[in-house]
Amino acid sequence: NFAERSEEQVSGATVIAQALKTQDVEYIFGIVGIPVTEIAIAAQQLGIKYIGMRNEQAACYAASAIGYLTGRPGVCLVVSGPGLIHALGGMANANMNCWPLLVIGGSPERNQETMGAFQEFPQVEACRLYTKFSARPSSIEAVPFVIEKAVRSSIYGRPGACYVDIPADFVNLQVNVNSIKYVERCMSPPISMAETSAVCTAASVIRSAKQPLLIIGKGAAYAHAEESIQKLVERYKLPFLPTPMGKGVVPDNHPYCVGAARSRALQFADVIVLFGARLNWILHFGLPPRYQPDVKFIQVDICAEELGNNVKPAVTLLGDINAVTKQLLEELDKTPWQYPPESKWWKTLREKMKSNEAASKELASKKSLPMNYYTVFYHVQEQLPRDCFVVSEGANTMDIGRTVLQNYLPRHRLDAGTFGTMGVGLGFAIAAAMVAKDRSPGQRIICVEGDSAFGFSGMEVETICRYNLPIILLVVNNNGIYQGFDSDTWKEMLKFQDAASVVPPMCLLPNSHYEQVMTAFGGKGYFVQTPEELQRSLRQSLADTTKPSLINIMIEPQATRKTQDFHWLTRSNM
Ligand code: ADP
Ligand code: MG
Repeated sequence: NFAERSEEQVSGATVIAQALKTQDVEYIFGIVGIPVTEIAIAAQQLGIKYIGMRNEQAACYAASAIGYLTGRPGVCLVVSGPGLIHALGGMANANMNCWPLLVIGGSPERNQETMGAFQEFPQVEACRLYTKFSARPSSIEAVPFVIEKAVRSSIYGRPGACYVDIPADFVNLQVNVNSIKYVERCMSPPISMAETSAVCTAASVIRSAKQPLLIIGKGAAYAHAEESIQKLVERYKLPFLPTPMGKGVVPDNHPYCVGAARSRALQFADVIVLFGARLNWILHFGLPPRYQPDVKFIQVDICAEELGNNVKPAVTLLGDINAVTKQLLEELDKTPWQYPPESKWWKTLREKMKSNEAASKELASKKSLPMNYYTVFYHVQEQLPRDCFVVSEGANTMDIGRTVLQNYLPRHRLDAGTFGTMGVGLGFAIAAAMVAKDRSPGQRIICVEGDSAFGFSGMEVETICRYNLPIILLVVNNNGIYQGFDSDTWKEMLKFQDAASVVPPMCLLPNSHYEQVMTAFGGKGYFVQTPEELQRSLRQSLADTTKPSLINIMIEPQATRKTQDFHWLTRSNM
């Protein structure tokens, strides 16, 4: 009866979990300990999936990838002090990438504040630099309101990270169920459109372009703008270039993709439409000599403060990419027009693509051992399932891999991103695997790691095995960061001196058997040195759906990229 019901008590941990559940949180990644263990248990009891990780940094990377992949924030749950501090890396990375994320951190009891409590740290303040919103609810009753605000802030406007601090004494409180009000699930972000006059101007600038180029960024992927952007590309026959994580919004093998002529396309375009891509280092700031001095930029972005960064744009379209692209389509449709497929620009781009592709193929066909990067990636590409997620990090491993490994679906590539973060790979792969398991079972995650990159979060292999996730890890092993030494050179070097005095800072132990990290936990491990071994082990890994695997691929320790017209990161040619 009513009198009895109103007496019903519930724990603080359950209130926190219920507040998350009400906001549609599906996944929590974290490491438990005092005082958050009960929150994880309560969340599982309410049907939220809890994935226990081995380092908070990787847990936070995983949670942030959930935000990018699903449009609602994943949660990273950490203990106070050092636990929270380890998660700061993931928060910074999410915020830099403009990905939604909610971090929940335990903290000392309210009555011990400033007393030098166990793991006490100014957590709310520490998180402020890396978040859009960082707060500590004043009471357990306030928790649902603060969590709703954090979730909303993470997805409205430019997406980003948010932090909610939970004092230890909240967790074990017993409160009357009727004293808690849960705030309704916050709605999806409102869709904003660009000013009509700006859309008209943009359309006329596009029509007058002699050498147009569309750049598709990860903002377009996040905005689910794939259908409208593909329409724009095809209806007007416009060349497009995806950024690293913009790959797949329109498939990489689309005839209008000019990814293989990237530098040329950027350098000579006279009109560039940016769909959710910032003119930062990834796009060489939009400045000469990588671009024409008088190139007209049309910027499409949801964040007004982004417009005008580094260049003076010809037109700015402030709004949601999908909505704005539809506006552009409607405007361009008013008068029949398409960019001439026989133009000199298309000819230039096609020729450059052909010669670049031929140069990579030639490197790939080299029979010498150890293999080079191109040989490895061509063989991987041959077997890559069309719908797989590609996660990638490392220096050359990521840069060269990106040019060879194709994406056919949006939001299916995760890499070091805007912040150039190493160590994200395994966390991202784990998040992608959770999403794949729940939304499209059978889908595989191919995680292509440099040997150095793998080291940052290598122990997450245990996590992968514990949850038996459909991940295939490829460690492209050159015995070092950028480059390493073979074992003979290594031995020679150590003959007379101590390692710390002579081993070059970029060197790692030669011929490390990283595959044994996988076999240690019951997965399949392969050590491969030839193209045939690589082909065979990848075929077996793809066929075996019962276990994760790791293929440790030995490559030439001094292997590099093919010669570039420009180096990715040189200041001298700014
Ligand atoms: P990339 O690394 O692919 O170049 P960036 O991360 O630099 O991409 O840029 C992504 C941009 O997309 C950010 O400036 C962000 O504000 C914007 N953005 C995110 N979501 C939307 C959206 N729904 N509509 C418009 N712009 C968006
Ligand atoms: Mg390496």
